[in-house]
Amino acid sequence: MIPINLQGKVALVTGVGDNESFAWHIAKGLQAAGARLVFAVHPRMIRIVEGFLTGEGPDDVAGRALPYGAGSLTVDKVFPCDVAYDTLDDVPVDIRNDRRYKRVEEQYGDYSIKGLMHAVQSSHGGIDIMLHSIAFSPEIKNKAVDTSRSAYLTALSISAYSLTAICKAAIPLMENRPDGASVVSLTYLGGDRVVPHYGGGMSTAKAALQIDTKQIAHNLGSKNIRVNTISAGPYGSRAAKAIGDIQHMIDYAAERSPLPRGIKPEEVANATVFLCSPLASAITGHVLYVDCGYNVMGI
Ligand code: NAD
Repeated sequence: MIPINLQGKVALVTGVGDNESFAWHIAKGLQAAGARLVFAVHPRMIRIVEGFLTGEGPDDVAGRALPYGAGSLTVDKVFPCDVAYDTLDDVPVDIRNDRRYKRVEEQYGDYSIKGLMHAVQSSHGGIDIMLHSIAFSPEIKNKAVDTSRSAYLTALSISAYSLTAICKAAIPLMENRPDGASVVSLTYLGGDRVVPHYGGGMSTAKAALQIDTKQIAHNLGSKNIRVNTISAGPYGSRAAKAIGDIQHMIDYAAERSPLPRGIKPEEVANATVFLCSPLASAITGHVLYVDCGYNVMGI
């Protein structure tokens, strides 16, 4: 058998908001292959995520079960990070003084990208795998034509530029890793083609994320850092429910896909594990569709 062995690799996982997030399932897949996990969680979500990691209820325990009978999800560290901010000096005063941000700063310290990388450097000394699983638009329900400049720029900043920002900040932690390093982000078909309702600047943000993946793959290839993105089919996560009738999007794609069904988050996790493994050592700058083949259809 060809093994996928990520034993001892350090994976920095962004974008866990609850135990249905793509990032949660991906973290479990990476750990089932042996990776050690560090979570970088939005400051407003950190208590909730800590709850999912420590809760003793049957659903909590079941939600932490790793695939392949590999045990139970264990995270070395949970750090706060708001990817809107490269440094703490960038945080506007009203946000810095917000009750929850203040508490997080007192408890954990610097929640900027710089602060996150400093914390990971101190705790783990480097990063082998980095997952970007973050998207946000304040006007996700608006059509593209009705999107305000400010919401458009926020969608671009949080959902696309943040990949550039975390890659840049992580270079010192990812270069010179024994087997190279791997970055994976999550995109959506709405970045290639018109998906009605995928407005608020999000389709533009995904298009930007996809070309940035290729640019950054080129920029970091000489450091043996690979950068890829997975274009996932629709799935009813918390972010997706904010778009509107996600079930309709899932059913619509399922009816028309070569594999006539919706995707499972575990399938996105498996594809991520592959991209982060030595089996994908010559794959970089790639958009990998994990969507039951829907992207090839013309209807
Ligand atoms: P999710 O809501 O579980 O994850 C989105 C995460 O982004 C949340 O954990 C949220 O806290 C985080 N986030 C938002 N703003 C942030 C900020 N400023 N700083 C740090 N974190 C921030 O939903 P999901 O569906 O798991 O989304 C993960 C990724 O998958 C996104 O990039 C999304 O666009 C992509 N995706 C989702 C679908 C789908 O149908 N669910 C399909 C294709 C791609």
